[in-house]
Amino acid sequence: AAQRHLSSHLRKVAADTRKNVAVGAIFAVSTLSQVYIGIKCISFTGEWQAHPHVMSAQGALLGLSVLLVNVEAWLINRLVNIFTAEEGFYVPEFHEHRLFFTKLPGAHVCDLCRANSALMYRCTVCDWDACPACFQRQDKATGEGVLRGDKGVRMTAEVGRWTYLRRTMHLVWPHIPLFLVALACLAANAAANLFLPNFQGNIFDHVISAHHACSADERADDCASSKRSFYRTVQIYLVLSVAIGLLATLKSLSFSIVSRRIAIWIRKRLFKIMLSQDIAFFDGMRTGDLQSRVSEDISQMVLPIQYSLSSFLSNVILLLG
Ligand SMILES: [Zn+2]
Ligand SMILES: [Zn+2]
Repeated sequence: AAQRHLSSHLRKVAADTRKNVAVGAIFAVSTLSQVYIGIKCISFTGEWQAHPHVMSAQGALLGLSVLLVNVEAWLINRLVNIFTAEEGFYVPEFHEHRLFFTKLPGAHVCDLCRANSALMYRCTVCDWDACPACFQRQDKATGEGVLRGDKGVRMTAEVGRWTYLRRTMHLVWPHIPLFLVALACLAANAAANLFLPNFQGNIFDHVISAHHACSADERADDCASSKRSFYRTVQIYLVLSVAIGLLATLKSLSFSIVSRRIAIWIRKRLFKIMLSQDIAFFDGMRTGDLQSRVSEDISQMVLPIQYSLSSFLSNVILLLG
């Protein structure tokens, strides 16, 4: 059957060439006729001397004929394309679109069995390929890479944006308290970061005023009080710096705990759901794919919670401050 499809593909390529020749001929004829109309337009005089009002009507008619030539060429083109359109193969168990047998310039990877082949049953819309071996399998519902249960092939459900959001909230919901703690640490850290430059400025102010007061008279009360307030500001600054360090540690700790908990929770749920699948599900799935769902994909999934979200929120607070 693959041989038959290959020879039919070669015939199709030849037919495509013929079709392109036909389309080119239509284009040439329409261009020539338009040139002819243009030449005629220049040399045309008609009876304009005798009846001047005829001139505009005849001009409009000449313009109309150019338009009609183009419309005719377009219609013939459409007709050729419709008659030569390829039907392709519609196998809903494999793919929701029609597949076209094609000979690709280089080897491609089969989306069902991961084998390399230059001959593919291809969906150009999704860049999806099935190799001839997979396509020719007698029962389309026994290969790998197809989602199915004991009752046959299962279609992937279409999930809308709101359903995604709802499911995400459902996944995060049990960890909201810890998440709130993480958010509080983040807010406190960002707020402390906002006040730090203020105290740095205060320290400099005190240094300058103490310098002025003490250079005038070292024994005066002014000098002593300036020194006292300088030491107090430095103490506050030190405490604030240590607090910022602690809060930053707490923040990253709580965010990583939240994301790890969510990851573990999702992993457990996913594993439970996997174990409750039909035997045919495991025939249709590759073991490696299932493993990488549980390990890699979930890590990728919670990564934004740990890094992007916290840096985004602290930057927002900094911006507002
Ligand atoms: Zn294959
Ligand atoms: Zn497709």
